[in-house]
Parts: sequence; structure tokens; C-alpha cells
Amino acid sequence: MDQTTQTKQTTQVNAQDKTQMQSTKTFEKRGVTKKSENMSDWYVDVIVKSGMADYSPVKGCIVYRPLSYGIWETVRNEMDKKFRKMGIENCYFPLFIPESLLKKEQHHVEGFSPELAVVTIGGGEELSEKLIVRPTSETIMYAMYAKWVHSHRDLPILLNQWNNVVRWEKRTYFFLRGMEFLWQEAHTAHATHTEAWQQVLTALDSYAEIYQDVLAIPVTKGRKSEAEKFAGADVTTAVEVMMPDGKALQGATSHDLGQNFSKAFKISFQNEKSEMEFAWQTSFGLSTRALGALVMVHGDDQGLVLPPMVAPTQVVIVPIGDDDQLHEITDTKRLALEKVGVRVKVDARKEYSLGFKRNEWELKGTPIRIEIGKKELETGSVTVAIRHSGEKIQQDIASLEEALPKLLEKIQRDMLEKAKTMQKSLTSTAQTYAQFKEIMAAKRGFIHALWCEDPGCEAKIKEETKATTRCLPLDAKEEVGVCVYCGKPAKHRWVFAQAY
Ligand SMILES: [Zn+2]
Repeated sequence: MDQTTQTKQTTQVNAQDKTQMQSTKTFEKRGVTKKSENMSDWYVDVIVKSGMADYSPVKGCIVYRPLSYGIWETVRNEMDKKFRKMGIENCYFPLFIPESLLKKEQHHVEGFSPELAVVTIGGGEELSEKLIVRPTSETIMYAMYAKWVHSHRDLPILLNQWNNVVRWEKRTYFFLRGMEFLWQEAHTAHATHTEAWQQVLTALDSYAEIYQDVLAIPVTKGRKSEAEKFAGADVTTAVEVMMPDGKALQGATSHDLGQNFSKAFKISFQNEKSEMEFAWQTSFGLSTRALGALVMVHGDDQGLVLPPMVAPTQVVIVPIGDDDQLHEITDTKRLALEKVGVRVKVDARKEYSLGFKRNEWELKGTPIRIEIGKKELETGSVTVAIRHSGEKIQQDIASLEEALPKLLEKIQRDMLEKAKTMQKSLTSTAQTYAQFKEIMAAKRGFIHALWCEDPGCEAKIKEETKATTRCLPLDAKEEVGVCVYCGKPAKHRWVFAQAY
């Protein structure tokens, strides 16, 4: 399954170059590069300085620190709930794939071969058959499916694994492209194509919900072009996300594999009419790329901005001063908030100033910060600082546990609305190729344009503007018109964008 079929953009920052740059560059004590000035530098600063992730001694591989891993765990929990509803069960397959298995589906192996990590020596001896470190698990899983499936009664198979995969990327970029990344890959086998296609769409819907409801990021759902689809799939569908710099990110993919793999791997069954038939298959995946989208879409000049649904700490209480009454009240409030399901921390560290703590919690994107001092105890009212909007509101201390859960829900909704407004401002329609080029040069973003579906035109557009077809939206209506590039008849308005 492809996490990507990405264009290699020249603006990407090589992880190692960046490390060297950082060692020679003096940053402000806690500050980050301004997002509006240089989004690429800002992105790396925010991730490293907030403590989300860091470079590792292995070139191209990063360390997921608790802040990013905590977010990933929430995504995972929410996704698992959806899998359970779909009847999909979690399992685990080996990290290594015998080379012969990977070679069984020709398009598949061609799609991956330049990026493979290969083990040739094990236990001090040359291996008789090379082992591939999984770039994805279609082949090893389907070798087993062939063993397990004989009759229509053995279908469907609905399995998912949460794992890591390795792809030898030359240019890496935190979360968006790495040599090793985390994801889930689900692989299903069905008795009919109708059932398999339904699974493809249900999975795609669940990804859209994860992005919108959990990460507060709007998406466009659609079908990929022949050139952009996953190697080995009949149809690839994806959720596409718009980043604030006008470049798109493929958020997750769901593939209709048809019978391509079942024929290669001999996953066949006796149908109800006692005829032999090959199984209909799907695969779909969501990766830690989602964390990159989260950082880019919501972050600001002060750092990360996390939607409450995924924030490992939703509320931080900072006591101002150090006396028993103050500690008692902050502890009581912490317990009361925990009781109503709020993830809350008290930052009572004595070795740091209030200013330092404010900056740090802002950098980490914590949705709500509350400061309680002597004055607050006297008035019975605290200032609640809301991270994403910068607003400050007054709230009675006594009713924090009633007010904050509602406020967190509101923040979640407001952040999605804000992201929708951003996406809308970066979505255009082009009638002519001149318009297309003008928009792509000025603000980029999603461009809706009629395309004849000839791969030649698609390649020319990519060559001249760096924009690729992102998808044909699932709800697109048929039109009568001409291709934005060649002027030949075109009936569908595709979404184009430069992509990460
Ligand atoms: Zn054309």
C-alpha cells in the first residue's frame, strides 16, 4: 500500500542537513522560526522544540517522543473503535518477507523495488534467500490467506495490523516521509467485488472521520488517477488534505485490489455454486503522516496547537506562588477535572518562571492553560487562556469542572471550522490553463479543473506546474466540457495540487 505516490519536492529539508544547520544557527531561547516567514524551518523547529520528535543516530529515522506518540495512541484508539464496528480484528505478521513472495505480484514489486531494505546476512551467515524488511505486508499476509481460504465460508477475512514499515527514502522529512514509519495496514478478502468495494468506501469514510472529528482537519475524498494509484491496485481512493502553504498531503489511502493479488497468491475458494473463484481484496492504511498534517494545519508562530481530542494534556494548571492553600486548591481541581474525563496536569515546578512555563505550554500546543495565584483565590475567578485563539476568559474556580469539558468541545469545533476556512481560501477553479498556471504560481492550493484523463496531459501539467492530480472527488458530477490542458472533451473536474 502506498503511503505516498508523492512528487519529490525540492523544498524538502534533509534531516541530516538540518541537524548541521541547527548546530551552527543560534535560536532564540525558546522561540521558533515564524510560520509565516518560513514554514519549512518552522515545521522542524516546532517538532523538535515542542518535544514531539527528534533526530536519531540513524540517518532518516526519527524518535517519536511521548508528545507525538501520545497523539498517535489516541488516533489508534479511535481507529480501533471504527475497525471493531467494521468487524476488523488486529493481528501481527512478521517484519521480514522472503524475496520470492514480494516478487509474486509484478506491479507491486516494481512499485517498491528502489525503496527496499534487504537483509542478506543472518546469524553470521549469508542467507540462502534474501529477506525484505516489509515496506507493506500484502505479500506475506496473502501467502497466509491462500492457506486459510478454501470455501466461501472462510470469507470474508478482515484483518489489520498496527506496525512499522521501512522504505529507503533518500530525502526525509519529519512524519511526512521517513525511512521507518508507523501505521496500520488492513487487508481484507471477500467473496464478491461488491462487498470488497463497499469495504474500500467504508474504510475511506472512517479515515475522513478520523481527520475531521479527531484531528479537526477537513479532507477531500476521492479516487486517484491511473498514474497516482497504488502499484497492484485496480482503484486507489484517498483522503487529501490541504496544508497552509498551499501544498496537498495524501492523508490515507484505501485500495480496491480486485483479484490481482488473489490470482498471484492463489487465494481461491469454492463459491456457493461449487465453482472455484479468486477472492476480491482490499487494503487500506493510515500512517504517522497524519501527525505532520496536524502540526502544519493547526500550528502557529508560538508553536504547536493541538485539538483537545488528541492533546495528551488538555488543561494545564499553573499555580503562581507556593503556599499550602494554593496547592490544596490546585490538587482538588485537578482531581475534579480528572473525574469528568479531562486530561489535566498541574505544573508546580519551582525551578522555572511563570513566563517560561507559559511559553512552554504554548509551544506544546496545550488547548487550555489556567493560572491560579493569591488574587484568584481571593476573587474566586481564574483566567482561562485558550491556545488556538489566544482568547482569555474569566471563569469561576468553583465551576471549572462543569465549564471546561464544554469549552474543550467548543475548541475542537472551532479548530475544525478554522481549518475549513483555510482550506476554502486555498481552493480554486480554473477554466483555462493560463488561469491554472497563474493560481499555481501565486497561492497554489487545490485547483478544480476539467481533465480529459489522458496520462499524457497529466504528465505535461506536472512537468510544467509541479501539480499532480490529487483525486476525482467521490461526489463529482459529470460535466460536458474540455480538458484544461489539451482542449479535448473532458467530463470530470479533477482536483490538482502540488503535493508533499
Ligand atoms: Zn487533456
